[in-house]
Amino acid sequence: MDILVLGDHERGTPKKITHQLLTAARGIADGAVHALLLGPDAGAHAEQLGAYGAATAYVWEHPDAQDYATEPQTAALLAAVEASGAQVVLYPGDPLLSDVVARAAVRLGAGVVTDVTDLERADDALVATKPIFGGDMTSRCQVTPGRAQFLGIKANAFADEEAGGSPADVVPLEVTVADEARRARVVEVVEAEATGRPEMTEAPIVVAGGRGLGDAEGFELIEQLADVLGGAVGASRAATDAGWYPHQHQIGQTGKTISPQLYIGAGISGAIQHRAGMQTSQTIVAINKDPEAPIFSIADLGVVGDLKQVIPALVAEVEKRGS
Ligand SMILES: Cc1cc2nc3c(=O)[nH]c(=O)nc-3n(C[C@H](O)[C@H](O)[C@H](O)COP(=O)(O)OP(=O)(O)OC[C@H]3O[C@@H](n4cnc5c(N)ncnc54)[C@H](O)[C@@H]3O)c2cc1C
Repeated sequence: MDILVLGDHERGTPKKITHQLLTAARGIADGAVHALLLGPDAGAHAEQLGAYGAATAYVWEHPDAQDYATEPQTAALLAAVEASGAQVVLYPGDPLLSDVVARAAVRLGAGVVTDVTDLERADDALVATKPIFGGDMTSRCQVTPGRAQFLGIKANAFADEEAGGSPADVVPLEVTVADEARRARVVEVVEAEATGRPEMTEAPIVVAGGRGLGDAEGFELIEQLADVLGGAVGASRAATDAGWYPHQHQIGQTGKTISPQLYIGAGISGAIQHRAGMQTSQTIVAINKDPEAPIFSIADLGVVGDLKQVIPALVAEVEKRGS
């Protein structure tokens, strides 16, 4: 069974999720593992994917692959499936690549399993595990490889471990894009304001705030703590729905999944839908004034107290120790 990993990159540097997907692919493949990177600069560091087990790194850097190029990228994905002969495709469940995969799967008559958190072999088939009903239940889906089957993998569900392989064979793809596939194009890109903080799903430390902050200004405390620790800022849905912090920082079932080394949640009750996005964090610290808050049931360390007193004291202590 050959596997193709549809990877993601930032200006040519493969993202952690790409390494995680390659690591997951190695665990289940009994054939070759290949990677695909799309967009400008996709090939800049593609050969490095060999270290994570990719024999071939297909790249498509044509201007048609730029921005939210759903249709052209679908054509490239179909070309890579064809060229690699892969029977299973692993992809990160981000919005653009999910759009691309949905179109490719329909055209191939293939199946898609989203939100996969675990994969195992079962004879000639694969079993993909995914949380359902907000993490209340777990579904195990049997996937029979044949034509390409698409499996969307949750960020941080797998570790990213190098395999010590030789550089990947970088193969530029020849992709034919029909004129009608170019009908939709991005006319303006508004860059999010740079915060200097790491991306939440990639960060080793995430400090998250919830309704207990009281208002948008409360997030200044969360940002101060994140900054002294060099971490990212996250939020509960109650906080993002209230407009206190941007939605892209929402952690949980309908937000992002994180699995940092350290998660600190302040003023967050720990609803099941929030926990679905952070419960695999290595160390969980909760700050909440209610000793009965559900988040304490999964916390490694809990502080019962008013976050307006606890966080400044914590910031001062970290600064004193030079972080
Ligand atoms: C379909 C669906 C999907 C959802 N998806 C998500 C999701 O992706 N992510 C998500 O987060 N939620 C999600 N939710 C919402 C979720 O059910 C909760 O409503 C939400 O997580 C609550 O956010 P919170 O913990 O910030 O607020 P609350 O539950 O109101 O908790 C606030 C906490 O702050 C504490 N507190 C108050 N003041 C202080 C203080 N001064 N110091 C310390 N502690 C204090 C309180 O004791 C309380 O525990 C979803 C809900 C549904 C129905």
